[in-house]
Amino acid sequence: MSHTPEFFRAKILAQKSALETERENLSSGYVEGDGQMSDAGADLAEIETQSAIYANLDASLAQIDAALAKLDAGTYGVCDRCGKAIAELRLVALPVATMCIECQSVVEGQI
Ligand SMILES: [Zn+2]
Repeated sequence: MSHTPEFFRAKILAQKSALETERENLSSGYVEGDGQMSDAGADLAEIETQSAIYANLDASLAQIDAALAKLDAGTYGVCDRCGKAIAELRLVALPVATMCIECQSVVEGQI
């Protein structure tokens, strides 16, 4: 690898703080927005949108923590599924990747 683990850790930590900021902004906006909508249907749609956004954020944060755990364990860049090295270009494009592109497409195909 031409990039050091620290390079990827910095990228991942930057993503993590951006997501955490986004999460905080969402929750404060949600509280402040209280009472501004009178339509119950719109409220419900808003809540459903909010929970979908939270679910996405939580999934991304979980992926980030998994990648950080691999960095700590010294197994970063190794595919969780097949144990082969993940292509460095893939890691640069997607630092939180914990599987190689082949395994990722297999796993996504199963869902
Ligand atoms: Zn793999």
